[in-house]
Amino acid sequence: MREFKKSAKLDHVSYDVRGPVLEEADRMQARGIDILKLNTGNPATFGFKAPNEIIHDVIANARESEGYSDSKGIFSARKAIQQYYQLKGFENFTINDIYTGNGVSELITMCMQGLINNGDEVLVPMPDYPLWTASVSLAGGNAVHYVCDEQAEWFPDIDDIKSKVTDRTKAIVIINPNNPTGALYSEELLQDIIKVAREHQLIIFSDEIYDRLVMDGLEHTSIAALAPDLFTVTLNGLSKSHRVAGFRCGWMVLSGEKTHVQDYIEGLNMLASMRLCSNVLSQHIIQTALGGYQSIDKLLLPGGRIYEQREFITKALNDIPGISAVKPKAAFYIFPKIDTEKFNILDDEQFVLDFLHEKHILLVHGKGFNMDTPDHFRIVYLPKLEDLSHTTDSLADFLAGYRQK
Ligand code: PLP
Repeated sequence: MREFKKSAKLDHVSYDVRGPVLEEADRMQARGIDILKLNTGNPATFGFKAPNEIIHDVIANARESEGYSDSKGIFSARKAIQQYYQLKGFENFTINDIYTGNGVSELITMCMQGLINNGDEVLVPMPDYPLWTASVSLAGGNAVHYVCDEQAEWFPDIDDIKSKVTDRTKAIVIINPNNPTGALYSEELLQDIIKVAREHQLIIFSDEIYDRLVMDGLEHTSIAALAPDLFTVTLNGLSKSHRVAGFRCGWMVLSGEKTHVQDYIEGLNMLASMRLCSNVLSQHIIQTALGGYQSIDKLLLPGGRIYEQREFITKALNDIPGISAVKPKAAFYIFPKIDTEKFNILDDEQFVLDFLHEKHILLVHGKGFNMDTPDHFRIVYLPKLEDLSHTTDSLADFLAGYRQK
């Protein structure tokens, strides 16, 4: 029989958030075991409902959405996106520089496919949201990971970034607010990143899907607003802020100087055309979503579910001997450190599997976020307090007797 193997393009691609640990959890579920899955940031599955006005828009626009749209998206959606970024301080962009996508995910792969030749390098944070590394690899490039420093609020280490720029580096990716760490970058830090990008003529890709999920009265600053001269691609979407991850609704904005990137933009236009258009029904909700009242806000204030769950999980994790965790400022993830010596942890995936087998709770190991040490894991703190409390109690109990073999 002729054997079919996956293409060599996939040899260096991994995406562990939905990888082997999830497959094992699914196998256990198939055997009738209940698993608490804390592996994906999917608000709807934890009882976070999309705002009613969004659902009304979907129903009201169903008839209007039967056909394909312009490849970049419908006018009302792109106009709303344009106004959103005007208010965030963007300059040097027009409605033609805005593209809708089937989630940010599609646009990430599109951006990398359009830019990268074999052997090109892209600076990607460590830890990262692993689709960035996977997309660089899929496009034939090398994701060169720069360190985000846990001791410094998980901010990118600028010296490390500088030391990793080579003549093959084409771009730098930042994820702000950050998944998996929950960090929110200061203007000063963004200015430092801009200096490096300016000096080495790097394209900036800024993944800002959590920009409306910021706590403690802090404000999100978009890097593009600080660097109107630099070509920057800002990505965002409604999966998280409007709890509609299943609608696959995202967009990107190309801002800054563009004379030197015309050819790349032509490539992006072609890739956008090749997928015809993004989900038109989802495009119809963007105008409503971005204008006016933001229902997410009340979930992020004291008394709100995400805020209270963050308070709980941060304290409960730090109370477990051998675990420490930086308090997240945004999004809904926490990325605790585990004392590998104390528990003899050499393989963090094994640690996650051992915990899954014993306690039926699914976490994601740090290496799934391209960490080069086995000393972290990520918890999605979207489940309600009793489930989070069950998780931290289970973790404390599990670790009390754990030493990896
Ligand atoms: N970027 C980051 C940082 C994410 O955390 C996620 C989803 O978890 C995505 C992009 C993908 O989002 P979308 O649902 O828009 O494809």
